[in-house]
Formats: sequence, C-alpha cells, structure tokens
Amino acid sequence: MKEIFHSYLYVRENLHELEEIMKIIMLGAPGAGKGTQAKLIAGTYKIPHISTGDIFRANIKEGTDLGKKAKTYMDQGLLVPDELVVDLVVDRVAKEDCKNGYVLDGFPRTIPQAEALDKALAALGENIDYAVDMEVPDANIVNRMSGRRACPACGATYHIVHIPTKKEGICDRCGKELILRDDDKPETVKKRLDVYHDQTQPLIAYYKRSNILKEVDGTKDMDEVFKSIAAIIGA
Ligand code: ADP
Ligand code: ADP
Ligand code: ZN
Repeated sequence: MKEIFHSYLYVRENLHELEEIMKIIMLGAPGAGKGTQAKLIAGTYKIPHISTGDIFRANIKEGTDLGKKAKTYMDQGLLVPDELVVDLVVDRVAKEDCKNGYVLDGFPRTIPQAEALDKALAALGENIDYAVDMEVPDANIVNRMSGRRACPACGATYHIVHIPTKKEGICDRCGKELILRDDDKPETVKKRLDVYHDQTQPLIAYYKRSNILKEVDGTKDMDEVFKSIAAIIGA
C-alpha cells in the first residue's frame, strides 16, 4: 500500500512538472521581434529569457575577454564563432532556474549550434518543445532596426514608431536614456540579413524535420503576435 501511494505521488509530481516545462526557441531574422516576444513569454510563463545577444553585450560592457572577442564579430554584423557561444548556453540551461523551461532568443543561429544543443539536452533526457519562427520580410527589417531603441540599463526594447515610449528617448520601465545599437546601422543590418539567410535560416528546415517548428506572422502588431504564440504553446 505504501509503495502504491509512493508511486502515485511520484506520477503526480512528475505530471505536474511535465505540464509546466516549456523549452522554447525563437527563430527569425534580426529585428523580427524575437526579443520582444521572448520577454513577453518569459514574463507571462515565469521562465527565464536567455538572449545570447544580451549576454555578449553585457560582456562587452564589463570588458571581459569574451566581450572583447565577441565585439569584433558583432561590429561587422558577423556571427560570433560557435565555440564561443555553445558552452555558454549549455551551461546556462543547466542552471536551477531553467528546470521548468526557458525561452532562448538568438540561439541557436547555426546548424552546428542546434546540433550541439540537441546533443547536450539529449544527454540530460531533455528536448526543446517549440521552435517559434517569426516571419518578417527583409523589406520590413531595415525599418524595424533603424527605429529600434534599447535601454542600456534594464534591457527593454522599443520602436520609435511602432512601440514608442511615453517620453521620447526615455525608458518607460526605469527612466534611463535609450540608445541606438551600433550594429543597427543600415550597412550592418544588410550584412546581418545576409548572414541570417546564409547561416540561420536553414534552422527552419532543421526544426521542421524534428516536428517542433511553429510559424507565426511577425508583421502583425506586438499583441497579436503574442496571442498567436500563446495559442501555439497552449498555455
Ligand atoms: P538581434 O536581436 O538583432 O537578432 P542579437 O542581439 O540576438 O541580435 O545578436 C547581436 C549579435 O550578437 C549578432 O549579430 C551576433 O554577432 C551575436 N550573436 C548573438 N547570438 C549569437 C549566436 N547564437 N551565435 C553567434 N553570434 C551570436
Ligand atoms: P529581434 O530580437 O528579433 O532582433 P526585437 O524584438 O528587438 O527583434 O524587435 C526589433 C524592433 O522592432 C524593435 O524596435 C521592436 O520594438 C520592434 N518590434 C518588435 N515587435 C514588433 C511588431 N510586432 N511590430 C512592429 N515593431 C515591432
Ligand atoms: Zn530601462
């Protein structure tokens, strides 16, 4: 009887966990709205938002070795080499706060990164649940990027036309002055788009093959995009 009770508890506990675990990857061109939606998902479902771009920018700000190395690539609109990013993410998702899931924003960006992630998760008996691809045509991207303003203090992102702040140039959340990212200049954006098509877009077929790809129309307004994502992840 005691054993039956224990196994009942075991099943119940694990069902409960399974219901809550949600591991999500955001795919899409630079400026497609990955960060915007990842923050909404993370806030709504209480899971960490892991942005490799934010991690690199924090390292650049602190002047770490990783930051110095990453900056030379980021400034040119190129990807940081896989070996500088894979271990960092694999270590991050193994942390305690990721046990109920997480939303990865900006990783993976190459097939080798996706394979390394799958391999590391498989070794833990885990897997990604959804790869959400946000479709936004290239023609909209330069506008998205030139209008993007970011808060250097709290990481909030706005758009001067589509997602404006209450007071121009000032973060709604923390009152700091907003900045235009160095790599959001039109010349660099063009390069980043080429790199996206060449190295990142093949991930769409990769996740289609593993049956976890979900596509959303990223040209809709922010709230509508979020509604379609929430419907997909079924929470
Ligand atoms: P965006 O929000 O425009 O998609 P990110 O903030 O995600 O840009 O990334 C900024 C830059 O950081 C990228 O252009 C790239 O140089 C580097 N970077 C971020 N994530 C990765 C990654 N997974 N692999 C390689 N480089 C990355
Ligand atoms: P990514 O992380 O994919 O590079 P961001 O989330 O930073 O993209 O969004 C890029 C820019 O577009 C930002 O200025 C953001 O405020 C704006 N943006 C995000 N979602 C939308 C949307 N649905 N419609 C219009 N602008 C958006
Ligand atoms: Zn702020």
